[in-house]
Amino acid sequence: MLEIIQIPLLSDNYSYIIIDKNTNTTGCIDPSVAKNVVNILKKKGIGLDFILNTHHHHDHVGGNKELKEIYNCKIIGCFNDQKRIPGIDIKLKDNENYNIGDSLFKVINTPGHTIGHICFYFMDQNFLFCGDTIFSLGCGRLFEGSYEQMTESILKIRSLPDCTKIFCGHEYTESNAKFAEFLDSGDDLLKKKVSQIKRDRSMSKPTVPTLLKEEKMFNPFMKFDNSQYLDSIKIENISDVENFKKIRIMKDNF
Ligand code: ZN
Ligand code: FE
Repeated sequence: MLEIIQIPLLSDNYSYIIIDKNTNTTGCIDPSVAKNVVNILKKKGIGLDFILNTHHHHDHVGGNKELKEIYNCKIIGCFNDQKRIPGIDIKLKDNENYNIGDSLFKVINTPGHTIGHICFYFMDQNFLFCGDTIFSLGCGRLFEGSYEQMTESILKIRSLPDCTKIFCGHEYTESNAKFAEFLDSGDDLLKKKVSQIKRDRSMSKPTVPTLLKEEKMFNPFMKFDNSQYLDSIKIENISDVENFKKIRIMKDNF
C-alpha cells in the first residue's frame, strides 16, 4: 500500500511524496524545490529513499540535487533522457518494472511534452504519476515530441483501467476547463463538472488527482477519435493524429 502526500509547489506544480507502508520506503515524484519536501519529511520523521522524475524540466527536477545531498536518495529517470536528469542513478526503459519497497511500478514512455517523458504506473493501486503528459481536462504542450508521439502516448494512458487515479504535475484544471467548455458548450455534464471545479478552486482545493474515467468523458485530448464529439466541436474526422493536432493547436492559440 502506498500513502501519498500531495505537495503544491511554485505557482501551480504538484510534487508527491509516496510512502510504501509495508516497508516505510519513501519516494518523491518531481520535486521542483527541496524545501517544502524536506519540511514534510521532517514533520513525519522519515527520510527519502528515491526521487522519481517524469521529465527533465526544471519545475520537476529543481530539487533533485539538494535532496540527494541531504538524504543520499537514488534518482530514477528515463534511460533515454539520462543526460538531462540531474543526479540520475537508476535509468529505466519503457515497460520496465521497479519497486519502491513492496510497491511495484511500471515505466510507461510517453514522449510528446518532452522526448524522454515517462509516467510511473503503480499497478496494484492503479495510481499513475503522469507529469506533464495529461492534466485534468488538458494535456502538456508539445515542446519536443511530435503529434504522432503525443497521440500514441495518450492512447497508452487511455488503455489503463478506468479506475486509474491520475496524479498530474500541475493544477491547470480551471483554465483547461475554459477551453473544454468553449469547444463543447452543449455538454451539460461538462458544465456540472466545471462548476464543481470552480467551487473547488475558489476554496483553493486541489482538483488533482483525477480519474481516468472522468478524463475519458471530459478531456478534449482524450476524445480525438470520438466521432460524435468531433461533430459537436466541428472538427472533421481525418485521423487520430490529425484530429489531436487540430485540437492541440486550437488550445495553443486559445
Ligand atoms: Zn514540463
Ligand atoms: Fe511542468
